[in-house]
Amino acid sequence: MNNDKKNRPPFRNPLLIFLVISIVATILLNLMVFSLQSSSKQEISYSDFLTMLDEDKVDEVIISQDRFVIYEKPIEIKEPEGENEAAESFLNMFGISSSEVIKRAREQSRKVYYTGYIYDERLLERLDEKGIKYSTPIQNNNPILDFFLTWILPLGIIYLLFFILTRSMSKRFGGGGGIMGIGQSNAKMYNVENSTGVTFKDVAGQEEAKESLDEIVDYLHNPAKYRAIGAKQPRGALLVGPPGTGKTLLAKAVAGEAKVPFFSLSGSEFVEMFVGVGASRVRDLFKQASAKAPCIIFIDEIDAIGKSRDSQISSNDEREQTLNQLLNEMDGFDSSKGLVIIAATNRPEILDKALLRPGRFDRRIIVEKPDLKGREDILKVHIKNVKTEPDINLHDMALATSGAAGADLANMVNEAALRAVRMGRKTVSQEDLMESVEVIIAGKEKKDRILSEKEKEIVAFHEVGHALATAAQKHTQPVHKITIVPRTMGSLGYTMQMPEEEERYLMSSDEILDQITVFLAGRAAEELVFNTKTTGAANDIERATLLARNMITQYGMSEKFGMAGLESIQNKYLDGRSVSNCSEETKTAVDNEIIRVLKECYDKAMRILVDNRTALDEIAKYLIDKETITGDRFMEIYKSVTETTGGDNNDEESER
Ligand code: ADP
Ligand code: MG
Ligand code: ZN
Repeated sequence: MNNDKKNRPPFRNPLLIFLVISIVATILLNLMVFSLQSSSKQEISYSDFLTMLDEDKVDEVIISQDRFVIYEKPIEIKEPEGENEAAESFLNMFGISSSEVIKRAREQSRKVYYTGYIYDERLLERLDEKGIKYSTPIQNNNPILDFFLTWILPLGIIYLLFFILTRSMSKRFGGGGGIMGIGQSNAKMYNVENSTGVTFKDVAGQEEAKESLDEIVDYLHNPAKYRAIGAKQPRGALLVGPPGTGKTLLAKAVAGEAKVPFFSLSGSEFVEMFVGVGASRVRDLFKQASAKAPCIIFIDEIDAIGKSRDSQISSNDEREQTLNQLLNEMDGFDSSKGLVIIAATNRPEILDKALLRPGRFDRRIIVEKPDLKGREDILKVHIKNVKTEPDINLHDMALATSGAAGADLANMVNEAALRAVRMGRKTVSQEDLMESVEVIIAGKEKKDRILSEKEKEIVAFHEVGHALATAAQKHTQPVHKITIVPRTMGSLGYTMQMPEEEERYLMSSDEILDQITVFLAGRAAEELVFNTKTTGAANDIERATLLARNMITQYGMSEKFGMAGLESIQNKYLDGRSVSNCSEETKTAVDNEIIRVLKECYDKAMRILVDNRTALDEIAKYLIDKETITGDRFMEIYKSVTETTGGDNNDEESER
């Protein structure tokens, strides 16, 4: 990072700035010493001096070229009577005698005056007469040494001090090179990797994204081919998608495939407290990268600088400048050299329009959460890193992890390996894998939390309520497992549903209503069996309400509002919060409609449970006993009970 020191503008050269500061400080220091020296002396007139002589007040006179320095007689200090052995021997340790100490003290206590030099023939005679000591200082005949002591030495010391100070500051605050180095994007700012070691093989389940990026790789390999036909390479690609889907990984893979250097940094690292810092870092980054082209610049989390400029109530000068500089550089660089910029974000909607126009990040590559096959492929990539038993079934695991991103899956495989170690095994089993899925979804088992018998019963009936609503309705996913072992993330038990074969991308309104019914069946079971309401249903209620609201406001599934879009989603790739687009009256009406839907679903859940009361009791008993029940065992009991009771399940719903 140092090769640009020479051509830095002089006012930014830290060495020069040190020098100027040191010189100023040295001058100030000398002035201060001088004024201190003279302030301890008092100026008197020559005639006052003569009067002092007459009055016998003068002890010593030093005659120099331009002045007389007059020492007044000191206050009398008496030598102590008798001998103080202790004091004497103490002083002897330092090689001085007590009389010497007294002499020194006397000299120090003398008052000092000075007066201008006057040629006075009789003065020396008078001094001799009174026996006053006089002398003239030997002129310092080594001006070089003098100059060195008063100017060069302090200069050097101050210079050094500053240097050390700023060094340690820059270390503490990381990057930026301290006060003086602000603006130089230094090694900590971004990483340069000459080979990332990641290839497309390491990224699974993102086939479309890889395809789009393939072209960039090809270009980096062989820019001449494109130049020959006159095609311009897109300068930038923007990777968009939820966290953990492999955006950073993809960017690295592009560099690895193209075998070019990879400059990576995070958007937030550009922006500092000081206006102009980010901009100069951007400038510097592009300069470094241009020198190494062909190469890839990767700006992670670009939304930190690329935020739309107009939407801000309080504008942020620093960020705007940084963004402007980035826009500038993107226009300025010569893409024929093979400099490609890849950026990643999960909030594309807040990016400045100028960033997205053709010629900048004009290529948008969506990196979605993986589908079933994608998840299986990702699991395959990561399972290679751990030792497994031969009979593991990644397909099952992929089925159970709908909605998980690549990072989650990588994490699950690792959790499974950790569990295997904990269990004292040398290989990862299918059980480890499935358990780790649950750990990620619901938290670790909390064996030490003992539920009271009563609570355990309530939780069991609650969970079986969910499961029965699942089994008794058509449009639901089958139960995979029910457990009432408390988990660290707060749930006291849960019912795990898992799709049978294929993943679903669409949900019909029937399916949504069935799902809401499943959510509410937990509370319905509590009410039916114990005639009580517990806090355990809070999460169910939240999810059911959200589904009902979305049905009405976003999916156009209510008769009352038809297909009006009453809400829209913001931050699609993050929390997916929705904002309301309708009037207050409509909002009220929507709320009422939600309440109606939930009520209907709750009633339906209650009906299902009443109809299947025998199964509910049976399965809950089993669950209280065993704490966990598999989906298969659950269906066995359910089927045997409904068959023997001759279908007290006379709902229109068919059984599964
Ligand atoms: P982000 O999209 O937030 O930048 P990362 O690229 O940092 O996500 O992914 C984090 C980790 O998750 C990666 O290091 C990798 O181990 C794993 N991962 C994510 N997506 C995939 C994928 N498609 N294939 C393989 N591993 C993945
Ligand atoms: Mg990332
Ligand atoms: Zn529940």
